[in-house]
Amino acid sequence: MSDDKTDEVDVMYGLKTVLAQIEGAVARRSKDLPQISPKLVAVSKIKPVPLIIQAYEAGQRHFGENYVNELVEKAHDPQILEKCKEIKWHFIGHLQSNKVNKCLGAPGLYVVETVESEKLAYNLNKQWVKFRKEDEKLNVMVQVNTSGEEAKNGIEPSQATNLVEYVIKQCPNLNFQGLMTIGQYDYDTSLGPNPDFLSLAKCRQEVCEKLNLDINNVELSMGMSTDFEHAIELGATTVRVGSKIFGARPLKKH
Ligand SMILES: *Cc1c(COP(=O)(O)O)cnc(C)c1O
Repeated sequence: MSDDKTDEVDVMYGLKTVLAQIEGAVARRSKDLPQISPKLVAVSKIKPVPLIIQAYEAGQRHFGENYVNELVEKAHDPQILEKCKEIKWHFIGHLQSNKVNKCLGAPGLYVVETVESEKLAYNLNKQWVKFRKEDEKLNVMVQVNTSGEEAKNGIEPSQATNLVEYVIKQCPNLNFQGLMTIGQYDYDTSLGPNPDFLSLAKCRQEVCEKLNLDINNVELSMGMSTDFEHAIELGATTVRVGSKIFGARPLKKH
């Protein structure tokens, strides 16, 4: 095992550090915000199965993947099936309609965080009946494009309430859990609170007021390795952290 590359990363240490930082951030969070204790999603994309198992054995349950093929492969991995029986997968990538069935078939799928259109919600709602156990609903979040960047997925903030309403009223097989954003990378917080996080929090306010939802039941999924503490201070209830736990990923090829 000693020359196994995965041994170079101390997942347990990364996890402990992040969990301690989360606690610190919760203590600094404004008392006006819903006091939901944040859920840590360990984003394992590109990282090998043994690291996922290490994190699971250290107590981590929520994991995130952003490619359907990779999610499905990992979710079906015999080691994961055997050793990580309570694993909860978050799908956090762009979901194309032709991949819906594949995604929904992943064992341990817990939530699709990236619903960005009525069409996708419609497809998920329709197909889920083939995969669900008993009458369990599929958890979904609505992804909002808070930064207005064209390359980013997600619905416009002004349309978020309409999409949430569609999910709640027209999609009986889906359970609306909250809102998610990716936002701009490497925002400099010396300039003040990240506008993407403020925008997502504002969306939640509007959604809850217009649709008469209890704000304490509507999650905000925002914040990654570089800014999850800041996100929690601004109300994140789910943070998606990858490299801070599993080590840096190779840079994207352009
Ligand atoms: C990769 C990814 C993350 C985690 O990124 P890190 O910077 O490694 O923490 C979070 N959310 C989404 C949607 C991602 O694709």
